Parts: sequence; structure tokens; C-alpha cells
Amino acid sequence: MRVPLQCLVDSPVEIGAFEETDFDEGGAHYRIVVDADRGDYDLTKLVPVTKKIVAAETAWMNDRPFRTYLFLCHFPRDSGGGGGMEHAYSTAIEVNAQVLADNPLAFADVTAHEFFHLWNVKRIRPQSLGPVDYTKENYTSALWFSEGVTNTVEDYILLRAGLLDENQFLHRLAGQIEELEDRPAHLFQSAEESSLYAWLEKYQQYWTPQRSISYYNKGDLLGVMLDLAVRDASDDKASLREIFQWMNRNYAQPGKFFPDSEGVRQAAEAVSHADLKSFFTKYVAGTEEVVWNDIFKSVGLHLIRQPETVADLGFSATRTLGSQPVVMDVRAGSDAERAGLVEGDVILEINNRVASSDFQEKLGQLHPGDTIQLKIQSSGRQRTLQWKLGSREEIEFELKDVDNITPRQKARRAAWLKGESLGGTSP
Ligand SMILES: [Zn+2]
Repeated sequence: MRVPLQCLVDSPVEIGAFEETDFDEGGAHYRIVVDADRGDYDLTKLVPVTKKIVAAETAWMNDRPFRTYLFLCHFPRDSGGGGGMEHAYSTAIEVNAQVLADNPLAFADVTAHEFFHLWNVKRIRPQSLGPVDYTKENYTSALWFSEGVTNTVEDYILLRAGLLDENQFLHRLAGQIEELEDRPAHLFQSAEESSLYAWLEKYQQYWTPQRSISYYNKGDLLGVMLDLAVRDASDDKASLREIFQWMNRNYAQPGKFFPDSEGVRQAAEAVSHADLKSFFTKYVAGTEEVVWNDIFKSVGLHLIRQPETVADLGFSATRTLGSQPVVMDVRAGSDAERAGLVEGDVILEINNRVASSDFQEKLGQLHPGDTIQLKIQSSGRQRTLQWKLGSREEIEFELKDVDNITPRQKARRAAWLKGESLGGTSP
């Protein structure tokens, strides 16, 4: 039998001592294989979470293009970890063992994201990524959709699966808005350009807030904005779900690639019968400032910016997928600088907990007056720095109910948070 190279590359092989379990859901067979220290995880907790996610996603897509699917899980203790690698019939899931223990949503987040990739990017695939040329970098302007909108769906799915509640969802969404607006580059780098420059991400100079945005971040918000725009234009008869189902029917199932952003626009216009050219020109190809209160009006929300007294870290750090956080900036005259922290230091531990995918949350939990202890790798040597945190004022973003919210706004919010249109076609 001749196996195409694409299939071979898409079929991960791993040899080792595993723990394995399986379950059936909706007529399909799922295997979970874990390669990790037995004391670091509890399969009886991972299985129900995985089951809820696969049930919610296959129902949302009204599709299940496989008979068996495999989750290959790693929970490493040492490295930064955090992320996954999607395939057509399987996915690798990696969550640091300490993060898995500390953060109940860490496993669900990666699992919901990677599992949705079996449609978005593996089957609903942009023209610019198909077929892949393994001899060189492949450039694509569609990662805002393939990665960012996968993040949008991830949170809708966690809501539907009952793993996230409305307050948590809105808190995360406001956090995404804050992240975008905090990066000055959002004024000149578009979602498409950020996708195209993905190959530069490992360069620290490129990854600064002054130089670039994240297509995960802007794409996540674009997914929400597009969802609400399509709902508005169609009087709630269509939503992001119908866009994905349309792309699945018109591109994935006939085995065709979609023409990047243009293909997303065609799908959104087909399900909403609206002209969305200006939406794509302004927000996807362009960098027009988003008026958030207009975006969220239909669902009865507005964005509040309120000053808060928070711990003054004196430095900022960032992390790209799968790696450990790196110090981007140390403020001159700060206690962080006096303690010896310098730009480029790799943060290994924060107060004796590994610095991984949830390092921003760990830093965010610190209060003025707390002592921070950082284990860092600096110029090839490991060191531990410690200092007491001062305080500073920060603008916190929050999404809150508008005054005099109407029953119509409430109904539209409820439909939005279910990830459903009011006139949908799903079972
Ligand atoms: Zn992804």
C-alpha cells in the first residue's frame, strides 16, 4: 500500500510506557494515551472533561468525520510545556504537570482548542497552507482564522460543555481586549500581517508589544466580532456556527481549500446575506480601532475601564507557544532592576511554581507588599532573585451589563453564549 507523505507526517508515532484508556461517544471511539508520571494526573478526572468536549464540538459542527480519534497526552514536570499539535485523527496535548495541578481549566483549554483543529485548519484549510511544501517556510495570512477563531470556538465550547460559566467567559473576553489594546502595535499591524509574520515569532525583537500583535489574540476577538456581526445582519438567524458548518460543507467535505480571508468573508456573507466587505477591510486586513461598545450593544454589554491598584512587578514578560516566558522589559529604577533582573532572562519559576502557560495568571495573583521570588536562567546560569512588590495603578477592562438591559438583549446574549443562532439548523 502506498501512503501519501502528508498522511505519514500527520500520524504521530510514540514509543514508551503509557497509561491508556478509551471511551465511546456519539458512535465514535476515542483513546486517551498518557505519557507522564502516574502521580501527576488522574485519568478519572481527564476522561469526563474530554468526553464533554468531544460531545459538544461534534454536536456544534453537526459532523464527525472519523470513526476513531486519539489523544496523546504529555504532562512534563521540567520544561515550560503548554500547547499541542493537531492532526486529522489525533492530537498531542501538553500541559505542564504543575499547571495541570494548579489550574483546573488548563487541560480543558488545550483539549477543546486542539480537537476543534480537526476541522479548522486540518479539514477547513486555507489555500495558502495547502498542500504544505516541506522544503521551506509556508506563508499564510489566515492564521487569525485558523488559530485565533479556534480560540473563539474553544471558549464557546467550554461554555456549552458547562466547563466555563458566563462570568468567567466575559472576564476572559475582557482580558483579550485588554491584551490587544495594551500592545501599541495594534494600531499598525493587522490580523493578516500578524499571520504572515508568524515565522518571526521566535525573535524577541519582533515579539515586543511595540512591534507586533498576536494573531491568536486578535483572531480570538475577530471570531467574536464576526459572530456578533453576522447575528446582527441576519436578525440572529446565523452565527459563527453556521459559518463553520458552511465552510465544512463547501470546502472541507468536497476536499477543497478555502481562499484565506476572502473565503471566510464569502462564508459569512452566504449565511447572513449581508455585505461584510467593510468588516473585513477595517478589522481583518486593516487596523481600525474597534468601538467595543458598538460591538457588544446587541447582547447588552459595555466595556468598562476602571483603575485598580495592583502589584508593581517592574518588568514585563511574554511567552510564545511551548516555550518558557522571557523578560521583555525591565523598568529603570524599579525593584526588579535592583534585584538584578535583565531583559532576555528566561523565567523558570515564580514563587517555586513552574513558569509555564499560566505564568501571567500567576503574576496577576500577586498583591502589593507580596514578596516575589523568580528562578531565572540568565546568560546561561540559573539564579534566584527576590524582592518585595510595590503598587501601581492599572486600567482594568471589564464587560458589564448596560443600564436598562432589554429582554431582547438578554435573549440575544443567551443565544450568543450557547454558540447558537435563533434560527439554526443544528439538532
Ligand atoms: Zn492551535
